[in-house]
Amino acid sequence: MKMYDITAPIFNGMPVYKNKPEKQPSIDTNTNGHVTESRISLDVHTGTHVDAPLHMINDGETIETIAIEELVRTVKVLDLSTVNGKITMADIEGFDIQKDDFLLLKTKNSWDTEFNFEFIYVAEDAAGYLADKGIKGVGIDALGIERAQEGHPTHRTLMGNGVIIMEGLQLKDIKEGEYFMVAAPLKIQNTDASPARVLLFDQKLV
Ligand SMILES: [Zn+2]
Repeated sequence: MKMYDITAPIFNGMPVYKNKPEKQPSIDTNTNGHVTESRISLDVHTGTHVDAPLHMINDGETIETIAIEELVRTVKVLDLSTVNGKITMADIEGFDIQKDDFLLLKTKNSWDTEFNFEFIYVAEDAAGYLADKGIKGVGIDALGIERAQEGHPTHRTLMGNGVIIMEGLQLKDIKEGEYFMVAAPLKIQNTDASPARVLLFDQKLV
C-alpha cells in the first residue's frame, strides 16, 4: 500500500486566496530560552481544507456536522489536467460517476506554485450535473471551487444538495484512479470550514 500526502504546507508566505495579506497565517513563536510555544492565527480556509455549508448558505451547517466517516472512505481521482479555464459538464460526463461517489478533480492547478487568479474551477453546469448524480463529495486542487460566477452558484448547488467540498488539494503526483482517503479536519466547532490533513492510499501498490 502506498501513501500520498496531498496536503498543502502551512507557513507565512504560503499561497492564499487572491494573495490577500489578511489571509496569510501568522505564526508567533515565544520562548523563554527553555520552553517554546507558538501561537497560530489563520483563516479556516487556509491551504487544504473542508468547507461547511455555512460558508455560502445563511444559517448553513457548520464544520463539525460533517461526520469523519464521510471523509474517510474510497475516492475517485479524475484527471482533468487538459482542461482550460473551467470544468464544464462536457468535460466530466464521459467519466464513470456514480451516486455516492467522492471525486477529487486533478487539474493544471496542481502545478501552480503561487496563487493563480485564473485557476481552473467547477462551472455551474458541472456542479448541477454532479449534484444530480448524487455524489457525496468533491475536492479540487485550487483554493476555491469556483470564481467568476456571480452569486457563487457552484458552491450553492453543491452545498444545497449535501455535497461536501474540499479545496486546496495537491494532486500533481496522483494518477487517475481509485484510492482510500483519510481527510481529517481539525475538530473545530461552529465554523464555516477547517484546515485538514488529507492522505490518499493506493491499495494496489505495496
Ligand atoms: Zn473554502
